Amino acid sequence: MKTAVFPGSFDPITLGHCDIIERGLSIFDEIVLAIGINASKKYMFSLDERKEFLEKTFKNYPNVRVSTYEQLTVSYCKSIDAKYILRGLRNTSDFNYEQAIAQTNKIMEGHIESVFLMTAPELSHISSSIVRDVMQHNGKYEHLVPHTVRK
Ligand code: ADP
Repeated sequence: MKTAVFPGSFDPITLGHCDIIERGLSIFDEIVLAIGINASKKYMFSLDERKEFLEKTFKNYPNVRVSTYEQLTVSYCKSIDAKYILRGLRNTSDFNYEQAIAQTNKIMEGHIESVFLMTAPELSHISSSIVRDVMQHNGKYEHLVPHTVRK
């Protein structure tokens, strides 16, 4: 069974995340959407809200599970026997950030592979931080997130 962990803050989940997850399902048997808990980070949505958004969005997907974790991502992968980490790439900033993390993970747990999917061109401008800005200023956000996400 090929299980991939898709780790993220998902604050909130966007259509960019959804696209990566949908496409990831053609590669992996199962994808675990894993919300990393970082006590020192400020979030717009609570952990429960972010989890609920994910669960509602993928409620009809038997191969998608939602989870939370507090340890290193590779330690979490090991604990559930997942051999792949799925991430999305939008631009060179994502690439530089992801390269450092993937290489560090490789040194820590050599048997866990990081797999990257390039963003769909029509979704590459979407990020959770832009969605939060738009929401905070009462802009239209419905075309950026799945319909399960509401302010
Ligand atoms: P993190 O705080 O770990 O970066 P995010 O929830 O912001 O968590 O992102 C999780 C993953 O989703 C990252 O790999 C990120 O590059 C990817 N991602 C975010 N937005 C998009 C998008 N529009 N298209 C493709 N991938 C995306």
